[in-house]
Amino acid sequence: QLDPTVQVSLKEKLKEIFGFSQFRGDQEAIIHNILAGVNSFVIMPTGAGKSLCYQLPAIASEGTAIVISPLIALMKNQVDQMNAFGINAQFLNSTLSKAEMNKVKKDTLNGTLKLLYIAPESLTKEENLDFLKKANISFVAIDEAHCISEWGHDFRPEYRKIRGIIDNIGNLPVIALTATATPKVQQDIQKNLQMEDAHIYKTSFNRKNLYYEIRPKTDAKKQLIRYVKNNKGKSGIIYCLSRKTVEEISELLNVNDIKALPYHAGLDPQTRMANQDAFLNEDVDVVVATIAFGMGIDKPDVRFVIHYDAPKSLEGYYQETGRAGRDGLEGNCLMFYSYDDIVKLEKFNKDKSVTERDNAKHLLMEMVSYANLGVCRRRQLLSYFGEYQDKDCGFCDNCTKPTDRFKAQDEIVLALQA
Ligand code: ADP
Ligand code: MG
Repeated sequence: QLDPTVQVSLKEKLKEIFGFSQFRGDQEAIIHNILAGVNSFVIMPTGAGKSLCYQLPAIASEGTAIVISPLIALMKNQVDQMNAFGINAQFLNSTLSKAEMNKVKKDTLNGTLKLLYIAPESLTKEENLDFLKKANISFVAIDEAHCISEWGHDFRPEYRKIRGIIDNIGNLPVIALTATATPKVQQDIQKNLQMEDAHIYKTSFNRKNLYYEIRPKTDAKKQLIRYVKNNKGKSGIIYCLSRKTVEEISELLNVNDIKALPYHAGLDPQTRMANQDAFLNEDVDVVVATIAFGMGIDKPDVRFVIHYDAPKSLEGYYQETGRAGRDGLEGNCLMFYSYDDIVKLEKFNKDKSVTERDNAKHLLMEMVSYANLGVCRRRQLLSYFGEYQDKDCGFCDNCTKPTDRFKAQDEIVLALQA
């Protein structure tokens, strides 16, 4: 159980291990809550520093914390970082050899492993469950918890089984974390995890340093090249809808003397990891990717995020653009928009069930309205997350270069949303 002196030294650990002199926002309160064994629900925008809220208490606690995470890339990113800090953190997933797997289990059972990263798919495997029952588990962190909700933009059916699995392992405190804050998704997460009692920590979703811009998708390839060239040497992510477009745009940049690599789920895991590393280590400036790239990836100095194709939802858009400017400095978010892309996206939903199709359509229409309206982008985005601002931000395309697209009707729509 908990040693109270450990709590006192949290700040020292923050400095000693992470090299930070100050907690950010609610971090310290959240960590105390977790160490006290109280369930916590953390809703903070991308870049706010959610990982530390479970990494630090994991280090400060006896035994091993389980971190449930949806993507191998995300796990690897954090494990590498923790190991660089001298912390024993490992992941358990299908890429491990038998020997590596045994090492993970051994370190968990002898209590030297502080953080065990695991995908929900691996958690449901019986042999994994059995060894976790024998281990001393400090708490369970569920990162990217919006994957639980069908109303979210990244639904993962396996995530809905997590509650049952935790109950099977033992009576453990849970911390759920997400950067998605639509009230509907939030309720869904709490209900599914049976965490109605959780202490909720929610901060504003305004990312003041991000500049939002949307351009009509005409001549997009030319515009794209010009844009990237004007930002030479800066790190950027370009999102495309299909693997084919990813490859095509990546090639196009390369022949234009821009160092870029592709990233999508169709590449083998080794290539994906290598390309991700090349981006993180700045061997290349630009990664061209499908939405398979980026969740939880910690590169603080991404200077631009471009949506070459329109995203499926405003939540997705917010998450993806949120990867720019995590260090608080310059971040530019550019989207190329055409209604043709929306039509394409709708076609993807053709084979879905009626409810799923309705959900998807609803999310898509929010996106369309965001792209079309001439009013402050930030006000629209924040109102989508239930935050209302009565002033325009002065830092988006609609504020800095209003076009004749602005109509009085836009104000009415905004008023109706609020
Ligand atoms: P999130 O999961 O909320 O999107 P991360 O946990 O990836 O965000 O953290 C974003 C960045 O903030 C990381 O580079 C991290 O090291 C940094 N960070 C976290 N906490 C602090 C802190 N207390 N002081 C300074 N930087 C911090
Ligand atoms: Mg995160």
